[in-house]
Amino acid sequence: MNLFEAVKNSVTTRQAAERYGLRVGHGGMCRCPFHDDKNPSMKVDKRFHCFGCQADGDVIGFTSRLFGTTARDAALRLASDFGIQYDGQSRPSPVRQNYTISEPELFRHRLSFVFDELVAYRNQLMQWSSQYEPESMDAEIDPRFQEAIVNLATVEYQLDALLTGSDAEKRMIVSDCLREIRRKREETYMEPIVDVPVYHESAAHARKFGELEQYRKSHFANIDCKREIEEAVAAHFDGFRLDRHAIDGVMEKYGPERVSLVLAATVQVKAWDGRFSKANKDWAFSFDFPDPKNDLGGDRRDSYAVTTHPAILDGFINLVRQAIREREMPREAKPELAVVAAPVKPAKRKAPDMAR
Ligand SMILES: [Zn+2]
Repeated sequence: MNLFEAVKNSVTTRQAAERYGLRVGHGGMCRCPFHDDKNPSMKVDKRFHCFGCQADGDVIGFTSRLFGTTARDAALRLASDFGIQYDGQSRPSPVRQNYTISEPELFRHRLSFVFDELVAYRNQLMQWSSQYEPESMDAEIDPRFQEAIVNLATVEYQLDALLTGSDAEKRMIVSDCLREIRRKREETYMEPIVDVPVYHESAAHARKFGELEQYRKSHFANIDCKREIEEAVAAHFDGFRLDRHAIDGVMEKYGPERVSLVLAATVQVKAWDGRFSKANKDWAFSFDFPDPKNDLGGDRRDSYAVTTHPAILDGFINLVRQAIREREMPREAKPELAVVAAPVKPAKRKAPDMAR
């Protein structure tokens, strides 16, 4: 039997879905990994069908879509993961488990992330423009009011372009906004207790520029940080919910930048896992790990990918992102103080359709 026949005859889509981390409930229903699925709307059996987004196919189609690979690579992965024999088989080789993302998919994540950030920023500016409006002609102008006046039109333009612009226009805005978001991240991150600068470049870059020492120190700090995240979750999860103070210790010790980086790396290598929210996947792919493969064919992100249960870790990531958002906000605009302000109207926009 050839590879494709052997795989299709030996593995059901349901088995593959469970093997690759989807939780399949009664009657073979699960949350669809191919669209933002709140309730289980995908049926997995021998084949799969999603009643939400109409995704449909066999186990090889399912796996290739889940990992963003060709059908042949998906079949090889299934054969390896389920120990399936087939004609023309060479010596079984270990198949990498990491999610490999295609360029269009990476762009969709980044587009979606930038869009959400812009909507949040626009809402903040709207609030500032009314809350800090000068009371008279000669009153001093509040910098927040000024920022709102200066930036609102640009943000509106960017949002419109992300919804209706050309592909080139969208790409330009996404890369501009990402650069700005990353700059802002570096600016607002405070000094952590573990005083090792986060090293962003690849090992090859470090070797070329004589920065291997910085690279290694940062790499080992990432690994320590990963371990302490796992311990923090274990200590703050009571079986039902994660205590909101779970993040305090690691945030203080390693700083928001490294904690974010370690969490983003984790979500990137496990992005096939439907238990991470779409918003957190979008966020994770806004981080760059240049050239993550090491000389041995491994992936440096693996050494600090957190092994905590994805559903709990997703909650941990929410807490971290919330804490960073609060830190980035100017003191006066913190949520508990903003109660006196006029309520912010949610944007009446629909996010661009990222399903395809
Ligand atoms: Zn679907």
